[in-house]
Amino acid sequence: MRPAATPQADSLLVTDIHTLAAVKPGPRRGSEMRDVPMLRGAAVLIRDGRIAWFGPQREAPLDEGLATLSASGGCVIPGLIDPHTHIPFAGDRSGEFVRRLAGESYLSILESGGGIRVTSEAVRAATVEDLVAENLPRLRRMLERGVTRVECKSGYGLAPEHEIKQLEAVRALAHSQPVGLVATYLGAHAVPAEFDGRPDAYLDEIGAESLLRQVAAGGLARFADVFCDRGAFTVEQARRYLERAAAAGLKLKVHADELAQIGASALAGALRAVSADHLERIDDDGIAALRSAGTVAVVLPGTSFFLGIEHAPARRLIDAGLPVALGTDYNPGSCMIESLPWIMAIACCQLRLHPCEVLTACTANAAAAIDEHTRAGAVAVGFDADLVMLEAPTVERWFYEPGRNQVRAVLRQGRVVYQRPER
Ligand SMILES: [Zn+2]
Repeated sequence: MRPAATPQADSLLVTDIHTLAAVKPGPRRGSEMRDVPMLRGAAVLIRDGRIAWFGPQREAPLDEGLATLSASGGCVIPGLIDPHTHIPFAGDRSGEFVRRLAGESYLSILESGGGIRVTSEAVRAATVEDLVAENLPRLRRMLERGVTRVECKSGYGLAPEHEIKQLEAVRALAHSQPVGLVATYLGAHAVPAEFDGRPDAYLDEIGAESLLRQVAAGGLARFADVFCDRGAFTVEQARRYLERAAAAGLKLKVHADELAQIGASALAGALRAVSADHLERIDDDGIAALRSAGTVAVVLPGTSFFLGIEHAPARRLIDAGLPVALGTDYNPGSCMIESLPWIMAIACCQLRLHPCEVLTACTANAAAAIDEHTRAGAVAVGFDADLVMLEAPTVERWFYEPGRNQVRAVLRQGRVVYQRPER
């Protein structure tokens, strides 16, 4: 059916699409992840920044005055979404990276003054403006690789004023460039040096009701997150903090089952968290808890790659019927990888996921992991027109050659926000 023919200045018809990967809205569970309709010879009509129509180009309106944009015979996919990063961070831990490669343990590096505390010191010393200046180029490069939405966490300030400062930097970054940002308060990331041996006292400060209300009511963050693992916070500590965060109006995320199985994913399910992230050591109880709560399982294969540790059992999670998302975990300690397409390649080649499962994981399900799935992550009428134009004509051809950036152009809410210079 043809859409009504009313040419408008804010309308745009994207034409000459060899393959439109028409990902359906998330969350997509289990076997649904593989079901991505591939429309050949397609076009997309955009009105007021949203998708107004899509289908075969021969049925598209070609009214006089309607602006068109050619996809030049390439594949078009929904904008990629990175649902787990530690932007904005500061500082450099390349020395630690080399020490770890030489066999030194994370604990020994931490005890000699390295690790997360190095980043924490750098973030504490930085101003909002410093954090913006250091992280703006990161977001620009992510956009060039087709990423149109990114989740950003605090968690390096590790003191109320510095955590708030990180969230203010996220807000400033959101106003400084086109990638859409969703902020998460991760006050319970680690215990800072001044609270050594007193994690409960630290949680009382960082999880104080007044602070959580300030974060939620001020719109500084949509989510609260906690690192619930061996060497971090216990299940009981995490539960208290998350319950207070939920009461303050924040939605929940949990860093779960990365280093040890202590029941963190079961907690995420019990508290109906929006996502449980990492899951390298998830067990059957954790899988059952996430499934019954509808929690999105966010897998971060870049971290396993970077640290040389076991991957999360993504195949098993999908086969168990969970909605699985993929993220970078981009951070200066355990995964200094900003490229979501690289993470997608690891997911295909090492986790043995099908390209369509990976695409769904980085669009519809990543949108669900940041609670944006009713407007983003899919090709659907009424959704934000966040689209990526690829050089490759098909999704398979794109995945087949992972080491090369094949993004030609990126649209965010119907506007061209990145166009690769002609080679
Ligand atoms: Zn993380």
